Amino acid sequence: MTLVDQYGRPLLNLRIAITRRCNLRCDYCHREGEECNTHTASEEMTVEEIVRIARIAVELGINRIKLTGGEPLMRRDLCEIVKGIAAIPGVKDLSMTTNGSMLGAQARELRACGLKRVNISLPTLNSEVYHKLTEGRIENVIDGVKAAVEAGFHPVKLNMVILNDINDADVPEMMDFARQTGTILQLIELDPVNVDGSYFAIYHNLLDTHEEVLRQKAVKVETRKFMNNRHIYYLPDVTVEVVHPTENGEFCAHCTRLRVTSDGKLKTCLMRNDKLVDVLTPMRRGASDEELKKLFLRANQMREPYNKIL
Ligand code: SAM
Repeated sequence: MTLVDQYGRPLLNLRIAITRRCNLRCDYCHREGEECNTHTASEEMTVEEIVRIARIAVELGINRIKLTGGEPLMRRDLCEIVKGIAAIPGVKDLSMTTNGSMLGAQARELRACGLKRVNISLPTLNSEVYHKLTEGRIENVIDGVKAAVEAGFHPVKLNMVILNDINDADVPEMMDFARQTGTILQLIELDPVNVDGSYFAIYHNLLDTHEEVLRQKAVKVETRKFMNNRHIYYLPDVTVEVVHPTENGEFCAHCTRLRVTSDGKLKTCLMRNDKLVDVLTPMRRGASDEELKKLFLRANQMREPYNKIL
């Protein structure tokens, strides 16, 4: 079975924030659309709760699950979460987005636990700029990228949020790095969520110039129909994906995603917090699987394209 929303969009992806805690302080972070950015480890969903939510989602036809945060590697029980989800029959894809700074030491174990893919946030290769943007050390992230490739994650993607005058000139260098490491570069448009309005006005870049250059150099261009109609540009020796939601009705028209916030609420869209369905509280009060499935059905009915095709 596959759930379909009122706009004919199938529900195939679940993005679960397993913590709000993070070891970095990225200037541009949207915090997955969550309003508050602090909580303690003891307030987080347990491994069992996360795996149960994932199992119910899979029973309703979702087959791709991504772990996010905060920083997923802040959780000491991350491998248990991965193992539990990987063991659910019907999960086709289990991935994680990470800042990569703690991945070096854990990549191999996570791969062995059943994680299939990782996306690593890497906005620049310039160590000073990286530190200014994130408060982190780039050497740790580079180690994380190499360890992820060596551990057999495939593909490994580099998530580069493009910021005017900060890193938009670094794209060719990032493409070289992707080529050398055998990774895929993902150019991401800055979202306005949880970002100061004046910051957004200065640094937001629509990516159209970058996309035009890629179009000219590409030997093949593909569109990911079930992933927001994103474009993938295959250059002779490197692949670049572009995530460009703003003013792009096609992006939302092809959204197949539901989110789970770190406090256990189903969230229908990164851009809005008015359509949340709490599953954690009913679960903690003893709700049955059937009752929890009804909450998923309700959230699915509330999904709505943020940008409409005009
Ligand atoms: N800490 C993890 C990480 O760095 O990947 C997971 C959380 S982070 C919020 C998830 C993804 O969102 C990263 O790929 C990051 O680059 C991206 N991201 C963060 N803020 C963004 C923004 N304002 N606009 C677009 N993408 C953003």
